[in-house]
Amino acid sequence: MKEMNEEHFAVLRRHMAELIAIHVDLASDELGKSALDERVMAAMGRVPRHRFVLEPLAPHAYGDMPLPIGFDKTISQPFIVALMTDLLSPQRHENVLEIGTGLGYQAAVLAELARQVWSVEIVEEFAGEAEARLRRLGYANVGIRYGDGTRGWAEHAPFDKILVTAGAERAPPALLDQLKPGGRMVLPMGPAAAQRLTVIDKTPTGGVEVRKLVPVRFSELETVR
Ligand code: SAH
Repeated sequence: MKEMNEEHFAVLRRHMAELIAIHVDLASDELGKSALDERVMAAMGRVPRHRFVLEPLAPHAYGDMPLPIGFDKTISQPFIVALMTDLLSPQRHENVLEIGTGLGYQAAVLAELARQVWSVEIVEEFAGEAEARLRRLGYANVGIRYGDGTRGWAEHAPFDKILVTAGAERAPPALLDQLKPGGRMVLPMGPAAAQRLTVIDKTPTGGVEVRKLVPVRFSELETVR
């Protein structure tokens, strides 16, 4: 058999966008909407997910499911990436922080929509791999650091938006501190078995408004090792 080429991947990517749209429609009661932001869907249609998975898994990159990336971690399911991005609602002029880079897929989606993305990853190998993959694809507005993301990235704070892609019992205080007033954080929050996708809005006066949405299952945020 031949290997898949970029045209095949492009067809599968359009198919993936349709699968996401079905998934959103099915969950529309829980989500309170029947479609995601068009800008987010367009970004999902542009980012080559097959370049952010392990090479043997490239043919499976456009199924709507998480895939293993090593170290017992996964690249998130496309529907969840799209939903989290929609909830975060990154804008062209915004400075965004991501915690948990993995191989960089979500960072690439954010980079399509925001001015600048900073991403912190606790597994050094992932940080290096993600950086190389993003560079090869020409994403010039993503900076990656290896370290414990629960401390945020003070040098580049404050952030308009913060996306955490690993589960936590509560929002790490350093991240709330580094969020601008009027800013927003999206994270899987709650006990490991009962996480919910959670939106935390920081009010202009520094208070917080918390909205808990659909149940999700992310690996836990690790603390320093
Ligand atoms: N955003 C990734 C998802 C990767 S899974 C994607 O697009 O596919 C979550 C990632 O969070 C893992 O790579 C894991 O190593 C990382 N992680 C876990 N705890 C962390 C911490 N305290 N700081 C930074 N990254 C962390």
